Amino acid sequence: MDQKNIRNFCIIAHINHGKSTLSDRFLELTHTIEMSKMKPQLLDQMELERERGITIKLAPVQMKFVYKNQDYILNLIDTPGHADFSYEVSRSLAAVEGAILLVDASKGVQAQTVAHFEQSQKENLVIIPAINKIDLISSKIETVEKEIKSLVGENLPIFKISAKDSTGVESLLEEVIEKIPAPKGDPQKPLRALVFDSFYDPFLGVIAQVRIVDGKVSARTKLKFLRNEEKFEAKEVGIFKPQLSPCPELQTGAIGYIATGLKEINLVRVGDTISEAENAAQPLPGYKEIQPVVFSSFYPEQDKDFEVLRDGLWKLKLNDAALRFEPEKSGTLGRGFRCGFLGLLHMEIVKERMKREFNIEPVITLPSVAYKVHMINGEILEISNLTHLPDNAQYSLIEEPWSDIEIITPLSYMGSLMELLSGRRAINLNSDFISGEKVVIRAQIPLSEMISDFYDRLKSLSSGFASLSYNIIGWKKGDLVRLDIFVAQEKVEAMSRIVPKQSAYYEGKEMVEKLKDLLPRVMFPQALQAVVGGKVLARETIPALKKDVTGYLYGGDITRKRKLWEKQKRGKKKMTARGHVEIPSDVFLKLFKKGD
Ligand code: GDP
Ligand code: MG
Repeated sequence: MDQKNIRNFCIIAHINHGKSTLSDRFLELTHTIEMSKMKPQLLDQMELERERGITIKLAPVQMKFVYKNQDYILNLIDTPGHADFSYEVSRSLAAVEGAILLVDASKGVQAQTVAHFEQSQKENLVIIPAINKIDLISSKIETVEKEIKSLVGENLPIFKISAKDSTGVESLLEEVIEKIPAPKGDPQKPLRALVFDSFYDPFLGVIAQVRIVDGKVSARTKLKFLRNEEKFEAKEVGIFKPQLSPCPELQTGAIGYIATGLKEINLVRVGDTISEAENAAQPLPGYKEIQPVVFSSFYPEQDKDFEVLRDGLWKLKLNDAALRFEPEKSGTLGRGFRCGFLGLLHMEIVKERMKREFNIEPVITLPSVAYKVHMINGEILEISNLTHLPDNAQYSLIEEPWSDIEIITPLSYMGSLMELLSGRRAINLNSDFISGEKVVIRAQIPLSEMISDFYDRLKSLSSGFASLSYNIIGWKKGDLVRLDIFVAQEKVEAMSRIVPKQSAYYEGKEMVEKLKDLLPRVMFPQALQAVVGGKVLARETIPALKKDVTGYLYGGDITRKRKLWEKQKRGKKKMTARGHVEIPSDVFLKLFKKGD
């Protein structure tokens, strides 16, 4: 098909405003999926997405549609709405020419509506604004219309639809054909395919999801990645229906996949350009490297599973371009990986996917931001792993990352949100009305204050109505100290944190109190201590587990009893000697949730 009859587009919106549901209606309208196989949020194919009701991964699908007696190919990429997955959105936006900006009629413009819209402007996309859920009694169409206009300008017509009952959905799809430009690549030039996502298939090797910018590609062509010059032969090319469907050729302007046959996962990067092996073109701009903001370590439960963990991380990274990791060693936990994430939800999802997709359940340490540590000798170290933090005497100051945040909320919750912000060291607080009843609060806040349960608190204080977006702005000197936790006289490196000096006592006390409930009892009493600079700030004790393991062996078999007692004693000794505290893998996360 000629590229003038192709349209590539995304749906962008705040979480829950109806992107995936609207995609469902498009799939039905274009008969892409048989009615009998249709299910809600069809493009959310990951089990985890279906359980949580959120989109985590971008998901492309090709649809066919006849409009004014012409055949069209419509490539849609459904995107996630949560800030932690914004990298998925930005990569999708670079692969299309336009986007439907969807806004919930009862909620109006939210923080991610603004963030995604701004991103789409950077990519010069054509925007089609639409108000969704007009069937709701609580919809406030006129107010929402005003909010959208103040964001996108006065001139664009705003569609009013219900993705639930299909109202307005067909004319919205027709508008996509009318307003979103066709791709304008050069079919005569050598192939240039932008890799916007990838995943691993045991039979086909690494599969690259691509947008064909120039030229075309078919199976058995000799190709190469321009970043590392790695050559391969396309095993198969095809499109998403949404499942992989092989086709003879991907033409200029198409969205589809190239099966590379490559088994070495780390050769493939999103943002790379695939070109012809012998007739290579200039690489496409690609993507900005994404900076992780939250770090934590993953350790295998048993040292022998280190390689399994490494393979799992590489495979997951192929499908989660925002994930970062590098190997590290810890005295108590053995060999593991320092991992970087875009937020706590991202970290949680990575942990879940490791478990479900690769059957790996790592021990995860306390999440932390990265700090800049100025050494007395003039060196500046960037440290995200506090076990690498030098002795107090060796550094002069610590800088921490700060972010700009924007909260959009109904006016009535403004007071409690302002209070939340001040409690989290926020500065430069100010606010503006965006409609008669809605305000945007702007402030600056240390990133470390946001990565604990800030988002949950924001949601609960505002009955779910407030929304949040943020941007890292740089480093600021902080009055910070290192807080260490000792369990049974042993420092648990993975629990060390950097905290503001003024709240060190409170944080330490809270940590040992929580640990007292979270840690399992063992055969001996365990002292819990929070320590700053050699000084114990808070202390608790977990009593010993009193379990008579011989209890069920009534009667006379004294030798068996004695054996068991011996075994129990040995166990006791081993644990004390190693000072090894058995820390269940979820303790770190639970410990981290603050309870303000
Ligand atoms: P996404 O996060 O943007 O992908 O949103 P979803 O498509 O998952 O929808 C979020 C929720 O809104 C789901 O419970 C949908 O059933 C519901 N929803 C979506 N569109 C409509 C609509 O037009 N009307 C109503 N009443 N509910 C809708
Ligand atoms: Mg969705």
